[in-house]
Amino acid sequence: MEKELELPILPTTVIGSYPRPKWLREAIRLHKNGKISDEELKEAFDDAVIAVLRDHQVAGVDIPTDGEMRRDEMVEYFAERLKGFKFYGPVRVWGTAYYRKPSVVSKIEYTTPLIVDEFKFTKNASYSPHIKITITGPYTIAEWSYNEYYKTKQDLVFDLAKIINIELKKLVEAGATFIQVDEPALPTHAEEVEWAVDAINEAVKGINVKVGVHICYGDYSRVLPYTDKLLVDQFALEFANRNFEDLVLLKRFNFDKELGFGVVDVHNRRVESPEEVASAIRKALEYVPPDKLFINPDCGLKLLPRNIAFQKLVNMVAGTKIVREELKRKGYISTSLKPLVSR
Ligand SMILES: [Zn+2]
Repeated sequence: MEKELELPILPTTVIGSYPRPKWLREAIRLHKNGKISDEELKEAFDDAVIAVLRDHQVAGVDIPTDGEMRRDEMVEYFAERLKGFKFYGPVRVWGTAYYRKPSVVSKIEYTTPLIVDEFKFTKNASYSPHIKITITGPYTIAEWSYNEYYKTKQDLVFDLAKIINIELKKLVEAGATFIQVDEPALPTHAEEVEWAVDAINEAVKGINVKVGVHICYGDYSRVLPYTDKLLVDQFALEFANRNFEDLVLLKRFNFDKELGFGVVDVHNRRVESPEEVASAIRKALEYVPPDKLFINPDCGLKLLPRNIAFQKLVNMVAGTKIVREELKRKGYISTSLKPLVSR
């Protein structure tokens, strides 16, 4: 087991999403209009996952994902599969961007596995023994929904946490070795972070594989004080988009967990050079020991054109390899996917 979980020092990974191939977007549209069957759409999703894995493989990413090809959106996907949610219609979130915001209209119930099948498919199709599976966290699902049923938001979040825990146990049974809970909404309300952390702990209870949390919006100084209290092994955070200025927060809050270091900006089409990536990693190494540093983009790549997303991964891996060689000369060869925190 130990050997199976071994990774090169500075393992490279992704946060989750990847641009959908144009033909997949076309297949989804045809399916919506009744022109192709459920079966044909499923085949298109499967083929897209294989294409994404191939991009990750060619780029040299150590721990790929399926690019979240099957998910239109990170809350909607789960809300559609849980009992208790209802969709009234899209709401405008930004300029002309619309979001199908779900409403909670009855007690949330788990009736069917959510992402176990997509995990199994990816695991079988993957070139790497290690893949990352992502799931939206209880706080973000609640924060990005309307609550029309529960007395308090807290009640809703804890019910969601229990359901996510059921799903995570099934993923571990199916062979998951690295789970990432996505909680971009976590820093939204400073006064709620403390109990939201308890809820995430409830969601990951008994999950004894590597668990990370990904947070990509908001003020990290609201979350980092809970580093120890939050029972995850790794924090995957964005730094590139913030000019790496938030690295100092790690020191200020005595951060001592693994860091998923966001080293390429997903909101900018300019492709970072390998040397730029390498110098950012050297900067991160001033705050995090080499065996606790994973390398990833700031966030999911899905809003970039596919060729740019791919080139960013190629250069991220190339930049990582420069620093990996420097570390090898100092005796740092490998790290591990073993969990560090007991849950
Ligand atoms: Zn993100």
